[in-house]
Order: sequence, then C-alpha cells, then structure tokens
Amino acid sequence: MNKYLAFGALFLVAILGWLFLPTNAVPMLAYHQVGEVDDIYSVTPGQFEEQMEYLQKNGYHAISLEELFDFYEGKGNLPAKPIIITFDDGYADNYLTALPILEKYNLSATVFIVPSLMGTVDYLSWEQVVEMQKRHTEIGSHTMSHIGMNEISAAEQKREAVTSKTALEQQLGKPIHFFAYPYGQFSTTSQQILKETGYKGACSGIPGLNDKNTNSYALKRINVPQPKYGLWEFRLRLLRAHLYSKLGL
Ligand SMILES: [Zn+2]
Repeated sequence: MNKYLAFGALFLVAILGWLFLPTNAVPMLAYHQVGEVDDIYSVTPGQFEEQMEYLQKNGYHAISLEELFDFYEGKGNLPAKPIIITFDDGYADNYLTALPILEKYNLSATVFIVPSLMGTVDYLSWEQVVEMQKRHTEIGSHTMSHIGMNEISAAEQKREAVTSKTALEQQLGKPIHFFAYPYGQFSTTSQQILKETGYKGACSGIPGLNDKNTNSYALKRINVPQPKYGLWEFRLRLLRAHLYSKLGL
C-alpha cells in the first residue's frame, strides 16, 4: 500500500513540477485606463504601480511586439522573462499617469490607438502620442472608429485597418505593424485582411501566453481589470496564463 502511495506522490510532484517549470512563452498584459475611475476596465494608479513593481522585482523585462517578432524572424535576442504591457483605446492617463510609473520601474508599453477618438475628452492628443513614442512606447492601431470587426463587412474592416494605419503612420512617421481587435472580436476574414494590409500581428482577448507557434493574428493576452483581491489577483492571472500555455489551451 505504501508503495502505491509513494508512487502517487512522486507522480503528483512530477506533474506539478512540469506545470510550474518556466516556459519561453511570452505573457502580454491588457490594460485600458489607469485612474481613479469606477470602471471594471480601470485600475487605480496605486494598483498599477504595485503591479509594475511586482514585475520589476520578479525579474520581468518589458519588450515591444516589434522586438518579439524580430526575435521570431531570427533578428536579435530577448531578455530574460520578457513581458509585453499593452493598453487599448488610447486614454490620456496612459501618458499622464501610466508612463511615469512604467519609467520608474524601467518598463515600457504598447498603446493601441483609435485615431478618430484622439484629442477628444479623456483621450490622448497627437502631441502626447509623439511624446510617448519618444519615451519608448510602441504605438499600434485599434481601428479608426472602435467598431467590432464582426459587426461590419469585409470592405469596412479593410477600411478600418487601412485608414487607422495610414493616419498613425502620417502623424508619427513610423510604420505601424500591430493591431488590437476592439472587444476582442475577429474572424478568419479579419485576420486575412490585416495580413494583406501590412500588419505583422494582432492582439486578441484570448487568455494565454505567446510563442513561435501562436497565430500572429490571434495573439493572446492577459486581461487586467480592476482587481478585487489586490496583487494576488494579478499574480493568479499571470499564473493562469502560464498554466493554459503549459496545457496547450
Ligand atoms: Zn477598445
């Protein structure tokens, strides 16, 4: 009997060891607002700082999507424990509040912008985006008008992809290679359109980590909403994505 028990325990330890062993897969966090706003998609400056401090203390290094894709193409190396920090929608607080905190912890982010919202109340201005770009922020597109890709025709999806890319490139003087799907909505048609339009990749809301085999047009992200349980919740979200990746989900 004891022999079976010992075998069972050994098996359990082996399984747990495998599950918790580090992987090469890259986590990508998804934020929206950083402010004192009572909204599920907003984290407070204090919560955001706590999370960034946790990443820095635990040896994470922020990279851009461009760096990740360069690495996949055999150009350059990645630092230890790479992580991508993204923001959707282009809120002004990404510049006013999040950027100084990111810089304090030697981290950088990717912001997905909706050009038609720029300069309106609560959203970034072009000047702020230019300044963010100078301070190591990567800029991507989040469509021209923040419409779900599954709600519009293929021709309209193409227009959203092209006009937002062109507007950002003209204002920022840099090629725009990455996209985030509003509401996480996409289809195989959207993926094909983004590919044809010159995007290298697109971020979804599918939970998990990213590696070389991940579909470039359905990149996985870890959503970080307003936490109910403090830093533990953030750690659990990171852990859950790691486990999904290990289990091939
Ligand atoms: Zn959005």
